Amino acid sequence: MTGIMQGKRGLIMGLANDKSIAWGIAQACAAQGAELAFSYQGDALKKRVGPLAEKVGSDLVLPCDVGDGASIDAMFDALGERWDTLDFIVHAIGFSDKSELRGRYLDTSLDNFLMTMNISVYSFTAVLQRAEKLMKNGGSALTLTYYGAEKVMPHYNVMGLAKAALESSVQYLAEDLGKDNIRVNAISAGTIKTLAASGIGDFRYILKWNENNSPLRRTVTIDEVGQSAMYLLSDLSTAVTGTIHHVDAGYHVVGMKNPDAPDM
Ligand code: NAD
Repeated sequence: MTGIMQGKRGLIMGLANDKSIAWGIAQACAAQGAELAFSYQGDALKKRVGPLAEKVGSDLVLPCDVGDGASIDAMFDALGERWDTLDFIVHAIGFSDKSELRGRYLDTSLDNFLMTMNISVYSFTAVLQRAEKLMKNGGSALTLTYYGAEKVMPHYNVMGLAKAALESSVQYLAEDLGKDNIRVNAISAGTIKTLAASGIGDFRYILKWNENNSPLRRTVTIDEVGQSAMYLLSDLSTAVTGTIHHVDAGYHVVGMKNPDAPDM
């Protein structure tokens, strides 16, 4: 099938480089005909995001730091000048102080707790407050979460709480926006080596553990997350909202270590 996203305009937030989950999603949507805009955090990322946007035919690349409401407003104002409607939005953003993504959750500081919740949870709501006005014909919004929201994962700490709150916000947002035919979903992605993930303690061990113990006996790729995201962002999923869709090689169903897995 081709052209599934033909005629749709989408904003991709959270692209840092070609390893980003946002890049897998952007490529999958562009391959199906979507017209894309991108936001980037800070000038340092502009030089990476600009050329990637070009590769998928986009020259609409806007700065946005989601920790700053004025920056989100400015981004949506600039987007609204070019586009009168928006069909979908991808929020692939999360952040916590890396010194607290190791050791005990118990030692989390208040400052980092609040900052993590702001950037990784509230920002999705803040973005949708602005996007709602542009989604005049309905729309689809997607965020990215992780299994550490449901179960304790080593070193994930405050980010686990943030993802749990993000998943709950998906449900509340789905209810609030459903009347306007705006759907809100999340993908719970398996572990993937990205810039953000490499800040998590023992990340390589976690990656290997997932590879050895997931039902599919492997990890997942940004392309696979991209394909599933494209489904949730497209008209293939018009009755799907408020859901957390696992794209994790099945890891979320595992109760204990695979007996054939090598010792680690
Ligand atoms: P990434 O480092 O490529 O992307 C994270 C993005 O967040 C970056 O583009 C960064 O600029 C952006 N960001 C951080 N703070 C920001 C701010 N204040 N304003 C605007 N943007 C900001 O890493 P990724 O793994 O692709 O992460 C994307 C999402 O996927 C995150 O929510 C992450 O938690 C989630 N996720 C990742 C994995 C994994 O294993 N990589 C698994 C499940 C979920």
